[in-house]
Amino acid sequence: MRRLLPLLLLASLALFSCRGRSGGSGTASTLPAPAAPEVLDTASFFTVSEIPDLVFERMQGKSFNSGTTVSREDLRYLTVLHKNWSGETLRGEMVCNKAIAEDLREIFLELFKEGYPIEKMRLVDDYGADDEASMTDNNSSCFNCRTISGTRMISKHSLGLAVDINPLYNPALKHGIVRPSVSKAYTDREKDFPYKIMRGDACHRAFTSRGFVWGGGWASSKDWQHFEKRID
Ligand SMILES: [Zn+2]
Repeated sequence: MRRLLPLLLLASLALFSCRGRSGGSGTASTLPAPAAPEVLDTASFFTVSEIPDLVFERMQGKSFNSGTTVSREDLRYLTVLHKNWSGETLRGEMVCNKAIAEDLREIFLELFKEGYPIEKMRLVDDYGADDEASMTDNNSSCFNCRTISGTRMISKHSLGLAVDINPLYNPALKHGIVRPSVSKAYTDREKDFPYKIMRGDACHRAFTSRGFVWGGGWASSKDWQHFEKRID
C-alpha cells in the first residue's frame, strides 16, 4: 500500500486539474480520462524558482528582516514532495540560497524516491521565524536570517546555505544546551527512534556526496539536524 500512495496522490491531482479545466459543467463520464499514474513525471513536482511575490510577503519581517545580508535575487523557492514516517506523500516548500538550490532539488528528489522520511517542510515564516518553534514541530527548513542559537554569530541559515532536517529528532547539543529544548532524549544517539539521521544513511549520503558538511560529525559540539555548504 505504501508504494501505491504516491500514485494515488498523483492520480487525484490529475483528476483535480481535469475538473478545474472543465469549469464544473461536465460530468464524470464526459471528463477526459486522467493520465495513467505511471506516466506522470514525479520530478515535475520538484521545482526551483525565484522568490514569488506572495512568498516574499510571507517572509517580510520574519526570516527576511532588517539584519538580512543576502538579497532576494540570491534566494530561491523550492517545492518538493516528501514522505513522512507513515509513507504518506506530502508537499513541501523551502527557501534557500541559489548556490545550493539545484543541489537541494536533487537531494529531495533522491530522498523521495528512496522513501526517506521527512515529516514537515514549511517555511519558518509560518512559525514567525521562531527557530525553536519550528524545530519543536519537527519542521525541516533552510533560510532564516538569525544568529546561531545562544550566540551573536550569524548562522549559515542567514545566507540560506544550511538545511535542518527533522530537527525534533536530530537536535543540536552545544555547551550542554539542547535545542529544541524538548529533545534531550534524542541526544542519545545509541537509541533507535523515528527520523534519526545516521552517518551513511540516505540523508547523510545525499548531502555529503554533494559537498555538504554534517553537524553530527563535528567534534566540539553536535548539530545532528544540520547540513551546510561552504561556498567561497
Ligand atoms: Zn542548522
